[in-house]
Amino acid sequence: MLMWVVFLVVNFFEERSKNMGAGQNVFNDGKAVLNMSITVTVSAQKPPAPHGYISISRKKLLQNLEINTGARVNAWVDSMRASSPTHIKSTPSLSDDQGSWNLHHPSALEMFEQIIEASKGKQIAMFLDYDGTLSPIVEDPDRAFMSKKVGYLFIWNCVWVVSINSFQLVTFQVCVNQMRKTVRKLAKCFPTAIVSGRCRDKVYKFVKLAELYYAGSHGMDIKGPEKRSKSTKDNESVLFQPASEFLPMIDEVYKQLVETTKSTPGAKVENNKFCLSVHFRCVDEKKWSELAQQVRSVLKEYPKLRLTQGRKVLEIRPTIKWDKGKALEFLLESLGFANCTDVFPVYIGDDRTDEDAFKILRDRGQGFGILVSKFPKETSASYSLQEPDEVMDFLRRLVEWKQLSVQARAQSRM
Ligand SMILES: [Mg+2]
Repeated sequence: MLMWVVFLVVNFFEERSKNMGAGQNVFNDGKAVLNMSITVTVSAQKPPAPHGYISISRKKLLQNLEINTGARVNAWVDSMRASSPTHIKSTPSLSDDQGSWNLHHPSALEMFEQIIEASKGKQIAMFLDYDGTLSPIVEDPDRAFMSKKVGYLFIWNCVWVVSINSFQLVTFQVCVNQMRKTVRKLAKCFPTAIVSGRCRDKVYKFVKLAELYYAGSHGMDIKGPEKRSKSTKDNESVLFQPASEFLPMIDEVYKQLVETTKSTPGAKVENNKFCLSVHFRCVDEKKWSELAQQVRSVLKEYPKLRLTQGRKVLEIRPTIKWDKGKALEFLLESLGFANCTDVFPVYIGDDRTDEDAFKILRDRGQGFGILVSKFPKETSASYSLQEPDEVMDFLRRLVEWKQLSVQARAQSRM
């Protein structure tokens, strides 16, 4: 008991020290959904546009930009504005559609028994997005820590206080990172991968679990669990980096974007190694057009890069045909499930980019996708969860089910 108390107190101060200083301004990510994306493909090879995306040729794009640059930029901005929480709440047609959407994408928690039944006899493999799935969406992307649940620890202080002639009840508020603990347990039960648009190193710094697979930069930077080798000090085991030739170009564009956007207060350019993000989260909405125009002015010189729009973010990536769906297939192959029929992949994500993975699972007829969203969205996912806390509850139930089934099997052998 004493050890447990000491552990919680140490944990509290450790977590508190991480959060102090930045304030960790969290807004309710569940409010921000309906992610309407516009992809402007500028590759000369004209790769096919993914489902739900709008694709136009480079020639047509340049014509559009020259003739009607303002309209193009406004289209990006309007799309982002439409995904803001207030706009979603005030759209009556969406609430009308809520019932129908819930019917077609029921809660994965409510359907847990059916999900387990469908996975019977198969190996479950878990794929998890990071932002908006394991962590809340926050104002400062550098503070997107994994979800915590706050617990309260009551300690009877056994020092007799003469002045008030009574024992004192001391209360500590203890923050325990339940999400990390849950994902750690999950990885002991099932092969588990984090698939994120972020730089792989940054996601690892947030998750801090060496036993997982990580696919950063929208799957363009994949690495398996660290394996220590006796013969070499190098513990890195990079599995796949299909866009490595773009690294110098990405660095060049990053520097230009930082320079060009520094006049817009709140704008933040994030270098995700194989892709870039321009965050609008802390920019006054009145300045969104100006910022989008600045991004466009840099990107028009780089036809080998493409631009996509996400949740208050513009993302710049190489035009190679690689996405989270391809990363999912690569990871399944790496895990030894290339042509297996007895694998049951579960992919949980909240963003437009996760749809590529949902679609792969639907096309393969294996496992399913779970969309994290409080509001109706066009999706290829089969089930839904409303927010990261529900994701954690779902993962916990999976762990509990697995542990119980292992125990039951062991007992039946005795
Ligand atoms: Mg996400």
